[in-house]
Amino acid sequence: MRSLAFRDQLTGLFSRHYLTDYLEERIREDSNETNIVLALCDIDDFKTINDARGHQSGDIAIVCIADILDDLAGNHPVIRWGGEKLLVVLFSTPDHEALRLCNRMREEVAAYRIDDGTGEFSCTLTFGLSAYDPSLTFAENFVRVDRALYRGKETGKNRCTFAQPDTAGEQR
Ligand code: GH3
Ligand code: MG
Repeated sequence: MRSLAFRDQLTGLFSRHYLTDYLEERIREDSNETNIVLALCDIDDFKTINDARGHQSGDIAIVCIADILDDLAGNHPVIRWGGEKLLVVLFSTPDHEALRLCNRMREEVAAYRIDDGTGEFSCTLTFGLSAYDPSLTFAENFVRVDRALYRGKETGKNRCTFAQPDTAGEQR
């Protein structure tokens, strides 16, 4: 039962419980030794997909995207944060490498044709990234990631935006 609680039913990804009950602690500990990047992504204009094609097609899109991210993430955990938001925890990964990997995820998702049985369509993702600062709480770190994601949405979507404590760098 415990392991079921750690999995998201729709996508098979890790659930938010896994993050709160286990992963947050590991992140806190490891971040004293190595660089950890949190990468939060959100499907762009997902409401229009639901509205145009139906909720079930939206679900199919989430599952396809989850599979692509999980494949490319390798051993790094991918969590269904909620709704159409997925969180990738990149352990022992330098910032530039995290940005490269997220851009690869973004490009693969954009190029993928999702088939819902009635036709094909595609989706894009916006990512917010931030290196985990061990002097802050998880929640405070998450605010940084969320802000970076929000900035990516504001500046045109389908992009990866890196938050840094001092400089607010932005890259596509
Ligand atoms: P943005 O590019 O700013 O992210 O726009 P958006 O349309 O993606 O965002 P918005 O928050 O307006 O809409 C998100 C929609 O995602 C609304 C919600 O009903 C839908 N949604 C959330 N979770 C699920 C889910 O599990 N399945 C389906 N099909 N839809 C979901
Ligand atoms: Mg969205």
